[in-house]
Amino acid sequence: MKEIALTINDRELKGRPGNTVLEVCKENGIYVPTLCHLDGLSDVGACRMCVVEIQKERKPVPACTYPIRDGLVVKTNTERLEKYRRQILELLLSEHEHNCLFCEKNGSCELQDLIYQYCIDRPIPLINKEIDPIDDSSPVILRDPNKCILCGRCVRACDEITSNQVLGFGNRGSKTFVTAEIKQLLGDTCCLACGACVQACPTGAITEKLSRFQGRNWDISKIETTCPYCGVGCQIELGINNNKIVKVRGVESGPDNMGHLCVKGRFGLDFVQHPDRLTTPLIKCNGEFREASWDEALDLVATKISDLKRKYGSDALAGLSSAKCSNEENYLFQKFVRACFGTNNVDHCARLCHASTVVGLAAAFGSGAMTNSIRDFGESKVILVIGSNTTENHPVIGDHIKRLVRTKKTKLIVADPRAIELTKYADIWLRQKGGTDVALLNGLMNVIINENLYDHEFVESRTENFEDFKKVVSEYTPERVENITGIPKDQLVAAARMYAEAESSSIVYSMGITQHTTGVDNVLSTANLAMLTGNIGRPGTGVNPLRGQCNVQGACDMGALPNVYQGYQSVANENIRATMENAWQAKLPEKPGLTVLEMMNQAEKGTLKAMYIMGENPMLSDPNLNHVKEALENLDFLVVQDIFLTETAKMADVVLPGVSFAEKDGTFTNTGRRIQRLRKAIPEVGQSRQDWEIIEEIGSRLGYSMSYQSPSDIMEEIASVTPSYGGVHYDRLDGQGLQWPCPTREHPGTPNLHKDKFTRGLGHFTPVEYRPPAELPDECYPFLLNTGRIRPQFHTGSMSRRSKGLAEIAPEGLLEMNPADGEKLNIADMDWVKVSSRRGHMETRVNITERVPEGTVFMAFHFGESAANFLTNDAVDPVAKIPEFKVAAVKIERLEKQLQTVKGS
Ligand code: SF4
Repeated sequence: MKEIALTINDRELKGRPGNTVLEVCKENGIYVPTLCHLDGLSDVGACRMCVVEIQKERKPVPACTYPIRDGLVVKTNTERLEKYRRQILELLLSEHEHNCLFCEKNGSCELQDLIYQYCIDRPIPLINKEIDPIDDSSPVILRDPNKCILCGRCVRACDEITSNQVLGFGNRGSKTFVTAEIKQLLGDTCCLACGACVQACPTGAITEKLSRFQGRNWDISKIETTCPYCGVGCQIELGINNNKIVKVRGVESGPDNMGHLCVKGRFGLDFVQHPDRLTTPLIKCNGEFREASWDEALDLVATKISDLKRKYGSDALAGLSSAKCSNEENYLFQKFVRACFGTNNVDHCARLCHASTVVGLAAAFGSGAMTNSIRDFGESKVILVIGSNTTENHPVIGDHIKRLVRTKKTKLIVADPRAIELTKYADIWLRQKGGTDVALLNGLMNVIINENLYDHEFVESRTENFEDFKKVVSEYTPERVENITGIPKDQLVAAARMYAEAESSSIVYSMGITQHTTGVDNVLSTANLAMLTGNIGRPGTGVNPLRGQCNVQGACDMGALPNVYQGYQSVANENIRATMENAWQAKLPEKPGLTVLEMMNQAEKGTLKAMYIMGENPMLSDPNLNHVKEALENLDFLVVQDIFLTETAKMADVVLPGVSFAEKDGTFTNTGRRIQRLRKAIPEVGQSRQDWEIIEEIGSRLGYSMSYQSPSDIMEEIASVTPSYGGVHYDRLDGQGLQWPCPTREHPGTPNLHKDKFTRGLGHFTPVEYRPPAELPDECYPFLLNTGRIRPQFHTGSMSRRSKGLAEIAPEGLLEMNPADGEKLNIADMDWVKVSSRRGHMETRVNITERVPEGTVFMAFHFGESAANFLTNDAVDPVAKIPEFKVAAVKIERLEKQLQTVKGS
């Protein structure tokens, strides 16, 4: 690229076309004061603090908007400029309520810093201005207009980062103010409380409401770590005072979030200091818990496990590991179950969300993970989002996609039965009936083949089994697909052309694809589509499953699965098993173990006698909760290791208090295969102990010694026995982390998979026929129930519902129902209803909304008091054993009584 030569403060410098003077100054360490500029946002030159002198320009100009050109001569520090800047500051001060004594931003206010820097040594009298009321209507954000300097950073952050456009300017001239929509009260708007405005504000005009009086800025220590909620893996900076998290900031250099966070990551981490935290081991006696010492609790666990193993054999024991725990803890847990219990009965909740991905993508490509990187979506000309409510479940990725569409960098196709937020941004919205994705994807491929839009060269050189696949797809004409899916054939054809004709197209999917009895078929179909069009192995392409929890990718990588060790190495393979026996110095079981749902079935039958559950809550997360309850009640012994007394922990015989993400060192692997650090920010709460130490202690008591000094020590062992993590060491993880495969210390990591060759060699086309869901609405149960998540809550709510801000934003679960159905059943918005399926029932209030189509209802599963999983179907995909959370038949009855509490059974 051509360089541009210019002179700044007598230094001869170079810039790139499109650079501004400010950018060249920053790159070359030349300080220019700014207020309205913020990296990552557009520049407007509003505050004029960054004015510079340009040779032959009569007046100073803002450096942030002035483009460079060859031969430009710039001065940034003349006396005239300094005087000018000082006058600007004095003007700002004359309108700014500058009582720093009461301001939360005192000590980190950019205006305050500049006032000091420019030696303004006296208060500037406030011009005669009315005091505006403070807006505290939002549960988490406080707006004080009296401290606003109209830099517009919040307005641009709201518009450009999240595309929400809640904040804007009202009035004009000297009466200009920042307003939240036209109502002016933030809490009454559609603000999503991501807090981008808080992070952007240079003064105390927009601050974190719940952080007030929690600590002065100079008392707060800062530590960078990884968000413990979803799989995006946003990098966060925790502000700690008195061993409490008092503030959270997005880390601008975070590789996948670039400073942005959603409401959970920014305002939902106070669960760590919730009084419900478990602080001591508990042992159940006569149905009641009593506190116990660690030695007593650990001895009891070891004795019971040892007795049951002796009496019933190793396979009468099972363990559930956790997608909320670190890689190191997951590795150790599966090692413990295999080497110590002597069984492969180990699984975790990936079974419930992306087991179909692990199986399907491994069959098609040889690797069951996201093929490309999160940032790589920016290279896509077309993104097909299917079965992913991205803005609710992976909000930072959702906002990224919205931004790409709004800036016309990407076209968007959304396939979803619900009118999710992304459908508003979509060029084409395919509204398929629930559970018909295979037909839809086959229909797209039918059009692509018939119109000869497929990539012949890629298919011939990089894939196998095309002819068998083509034969099946040829049956899925647009007319037939319209009959099955309800998608008008013209829309299907338009979407097929848009996806196939683009230079680079990417598929993004999530649990709308995987959580079906046809989950593996759905995943295989997305892989077929990508291979057919050569959209794999290049930037901006790929098949990208978005993983739900913070470390669900890592828990799979670490072998918390019944059929594979860490790195997806098969337990049934003799050579691999021999290597692991040698590494772990233990005799290992040969037979693959039970999946989560199989464990519940065996427990109910009485053949599984004991379970050790670390950081999982099947009593809310699993389908058909009545069945889960019976199964857990039937166990001889249940141990739960967790940070709260969850619905599952309440059923345990022994509860062991582990630690939260903020109290531990370790690593998480995000949905983009990026391994990132967790850093200990506060001490363990009460007598709680590091999860890896607890496992180690029980191992020792069972006669299997594991003596690590730290999580880093465990990672060294992981690297030595996991080819794809071979080059992962803590000293390499600061900054951007590493994306696996990273086989050696010298390897830089792999942003995009399958570049010249698939992991399995040739990509494999699988012919897939459409099969309907296991249970469809009928006369007795006339509604189709779809379940999922909402942005302000997370998984079974054990963490997010203990966050004050999140609990206020989303206090209860609501059943979404189409207005036409509401009218038919005489149900109005916020009425109470009883929802029943063949498996159970629960009571909830209703949200009447066009978001769901007629005949379908939707419910999030986070809420224990109206638990959707009493209703869901535990029929599973035959290969991945993932249950069909997305389709169940239910009936709905209006409740006359306005109940005070809700319940399920
Ligand atoms: Fe980022 Fe997900 Fe955390 Fe939100 S919940 S801040 S999107 S990692």
